[in-house]
Formats: sequence, structure tokens, C-alpha cells
Amino acid sequence: MKADPGMQRVLLDLADADAELTRLDHRSTHLAEDAEIAELDGKIEAARSDLVRAEISAEDLTREYRRIDGEVTGMAAREQKDSAQLTAGGLAAKALSELQHELTGLARRRGILEDDLLAIMEQQEAVGAEAQRASATIDHLETERTDVRDRRTAAAEKIAAEREIVDGRRDTLRAEIGPELLAVYDKQRTGGRVGAGLLRARRCGACRMELDRGTLASIAAQTSDTVVRCEECGAILVRTAESGL
Ligand SMILES: [Zn+2]
Repeated sequence: MKADPGMQRVLLDLADADAELTRLDHRSTHLAEDAEIAELDGKIEAARSDLVRAEISAEDLTREYRRIDGEVTGMAAREQKDSAQLTAGGLAAKALSELQHELTGLARRRGILEDDLLAIMEQQEAVGAEAQRASATIDHLETERTDVRDRRTAAAEKIAAEREIVDGRRDTLRAEIGPELLAVYDKQRTGGRVGAGLLRARRCGACRMELDRGTLASIAAQTSDTVVRCEECGAILVRTAESGL
């Protein structure tokens, strides 16, 4: 295949533009901010679990407090009733002794339950502090995530703007190249290969393979408008004054 040497040289600029686009695409899908956001998402989820756990504990403690408090109230009423009976007097010795025994038992039991209530209140305080801590952590992390998301948007916009410029340059370059040569270049690029490379210092600019003397000699023998391909990677080997043939 033949193609004007000047047109072949344009392929090198086109290959640069295509490589630049690949780099920009890679950058846009590997933004550092995405990793930061994922890490923050994980931390926020953990803090939310802490908060839910603290809230469930708080509900359990409230229920337990109400149950014991109800029992204490019932006992107090019973003690009041028994005391009233004692004050009224006129009880037989056996009944009196039983009543006093019951009052002592009630007072002891109530003392234990009141201690339990105090212990629950202490736990409620601790659980409340845990919930507050988790809430504050969530707020802080969410603010941080908003900042990172803003940074991510800015970074993505910057890449998109760069991409637009390179895309424009690429279109201009493609318009300068004949359809036949462009078709060879595009076919070579399918599968992620480099379309064209400069032959320099005995190496293919696309795959960096060093060409042997025989190959170099046969390339040197070709007219300048012959389209030469790299035997290794298939890229169009563009020859210029730099090629040293
Ligand atoms: Zn090559």
C-alpha cells in the first residue's frame, strides 16, 4: 500500500492524540476521589450501625426501666396499705408479726429494685453518649463526603474539557489522512493496539521492539510512500529523517 509520506507523518500526531484520549479515559475512571468516597461510604455505614445499635439499646433500657419502675410503684402502694393497717392497730399478735415481716421483705426488695433503676440510668447515660458520638461522626463524615464529591465533579469536568480539546485535534488530524490509510490505522487499533509508531533508533515507536539489520535494510529499500508495518505489533511504521535509515 502506498500513502504520501507527509500523510503518514500525520499518523504519528493522530497516535499521540489517541494515546492522550486513552490516558484521559483512564484518569476519568480511576479518580482518586472515587476511592475516597468509597472509603467514606464505608465509614458512614459503620457509624450508622453504631447509631442504630445505641438506639436499640436505649429502647431496651427504657422498657426495662418502665417495668421495674412499675414494680416499685406497686410495692410502695402495698407498703402504704400495710403501714396504714399497722397504724390502725387492733391486730392479733400473729397477724401483726406477719405484716411486719412482709413490710421488711417489701422494703428490702424495693431497695434492690431502686438500685437496679440507678444502674439502668447510668447505662442510659452511656448509651445516649454513644448515640451522640455516632451522630456527630456521621455528620462530620457526610460533610467530608460532600467536599470530596465537589472535588470529584471539578476533576471530572477538567478531564472532560481536556478531552474535548484533544477530540477536536483528533478530528482535524483524521480529516488530513486519506480514508484508505485511516482504515488500516483504525483496524490496527482495534483490540487496544497502537495504530502507528515512529521508526527511530532501530526501534518501533509503538511496541519498542528493536528491528534486526535485515528488516531495517528491507525497509530502507522501500520507497518513502510505501506503508510499512511493524512485524512485531502490526503498527504502521512511520519513517522520517529521524529514523536514521
Ligand atoms: Zn511494533
